[in-house]
Amino acid sequence: MNASRPTSVAISTAVPDAIPDLGAASGVIRCFDPATRELLGTVPVDGPPQVRAAIARAREAQVGWRETSFALRRRVLRRVADAVLSGVDDLCELIVRDSGKTRENALMGEIWTVLEKLRWTASQGPKHLRPEPVSAGLFLHKRARLEYHPLGVIGAIIPWNYPLQNIMNPLIPALMAGNGIVIKPSEWVAWSARRFVQLVRDALVAEGQSPELVQVVQGYGETGQALIAGGIDSLVFIGSVKNGQRVLEAAARTITPVVLELGGKDPFIVCDDAELEPAVHAALAGCFISAGQNCVAAERLLVFDAIYDRFAERVGALVGSMRQGQPMGEDGPVDVGAMVTPMQLQIVERLVARAIEQGARVVAGGHRVLADRGDYFAPTVLADVTPDMDIMREETFGPVMLLCRVRDEHHAIEIANGTGFGLSSSVWSRDRARARRIASRLQAGMTAINEFGGMTYMAQDLTFGGIKESGFGRLNGREGLRSCCNVKAVLDDRLPVSFANRLFPVAEGDFERIKGAIEIVYGHGLRGRLRGAVELVRALRGHK
Ligand code: NAD
Repeated sequence: MNASRPTSVAISTAVPDAIPDLGAASGVIRCFDPATRELLGTVPVDGPPQVRAAIARAREAQVGWRETSFALRRRVLRRVADAVLSGVDDLCELIVRDSGKTRENALMGEIWTVLEKLRWTASQGPKHLRPEPVSAGLFLHKRARLEYHPLGVIGAIIPWNYPLQNIMNPLIPALMAGNGIVIKPSEWVAWSARRFVQLVRDALVAEGQSPELVQVVQGYGETGQALIAGGIDSLVFIGSVKNGQRVLEAAARTITPVVLELGGKDPFIVCDDAELEPAVHAALAGCFISAGQNCVAAERLLVFDAIYDRFAERVGALVGSMRQGQPMGEDGPVDVGAMVTPMQLQIVERLVARAIEQGARVVAGGHRVLADRGDYFAPTVLADVTPDMDIMREETFGPVMLLCRVRDEHHAIEIANGTGFGLSSSVWSRDRARARRIASRLQAGMTAINEFGGMTYMAQDLTFGGIKESGFGRLNGREGLRSCCNVKAVLDDRLPVSFANRLFPVAEGDFERIKGAIEIVYGHGLRGRLRGAVELVRALRGHK
């Protein structure tokens, strides 16, 4: 790690070490609805033998799948899209019960994003996966191309914040690129995972393909470790920084390539000339979609001094009137649901309490609510937040808006780049040139101008991923598809004759001949090249 890079406190403190008891000792996962604490069911835990068997099944199925046409893969993806579309109500119910988020969030953040990824991949995937001619450089008699071959079986270890979307996110490009996949969902949303994966398995069967191409293994961190050690060809890990480090260590033992999508502390910069109302509403989306349990949440609002008080007043009023409760219950439509895990609720409580201790002012919320019913934290706005507070460095991952006052552009950029994370970001200004100037200086994998940064996900041609402690590798777009591939460099014949290089045995004068040839190509200006030509001619004639 670069010594001058700021690091997030998250690495050391944000994720508790102890795995909360979901029933691990009994070899099952006990699944709860976080909005009601109702037991939804139990799911058996897969140990290393089951994980290895799942990888073997996917590998066997992939032998046939890798030979299929893009047309067939597209048909499979379109069938999945049809199944998602025709099952929207049931799928939303599964998502809501397992995660506690609202139905509207499930629809926008999971169904819509998944449908868009399916649509984009089916229509654009082949274009990015076909062999691509490139320059053969100095080999004028040769052709060069990049070929995109499947890697084999991809492993995916995923978090709990988007039960459906987190499964489909690595699965869709993996399949399009000709791979099999073994998915290890989070233990916190294990209940719904198999049902979602079944949609894809059914689509494969309908197209005459083996459903074994797509596998689910369930369990805790140990199951994730078994997957990494089980012989996969590549891994996508989406989760916390701390577990990302553990995953990287484990993957190093088998030199397994990894895409790491980790946490974020995204800045959302509101300049003094920003259009207030759209910026306010985008900030609400950025902070309260999925109760803020969103890797690309707008975690730090950096608001220019001149507009700060008006902004704070407006968001305070809107957040103060938000309704919270059980998403599918008698409460009717609610704006914010429950937290997915009690562990995350504790983290949010701790960070907010500490911020208040350190001088933050509560504009709305600030505490846990509905404790007798489930795991809820009130939609919260904290003002007078300063960069030195813990909450400005650690990922909150909860329904909390932080308002930090900034003097000007430079101040905003300095604070924005002052954390260990670098996932997404947003800049708001009516002056497009100014917004672009700020955007270009933000250390982030993604930036949106006059839009909430998380919306870049919906433009699937854009890649998705972070820098610094937010990880590396990309999930969406061309780069995401190609990260599921062995990008093979092929040098092929252009002419029906071959000119093999004869380098051995080394002869007298070879050094001068090669030197002359190098100067002809790389010599400075005409004079340098001519000198090379003269040297080559003399060497060929046998002169020294
Ligand atoms: P987590 O790290 O606790 O768990 C993620 C997954 O890793 C789970 O399936 C878990 O069982 C597994 N796991 C845990 N320990 C492991 C180990 N030692 N080896 C292998 N696997 C292990 O993360 P979480 O709490 O489920 O999710 C929240 C985090 O995920 C947040 O930091 C959030 O920012 C991040 N996230 C990032 C993105 C992104 O695209 N950048 C998307 C969603 C969530």
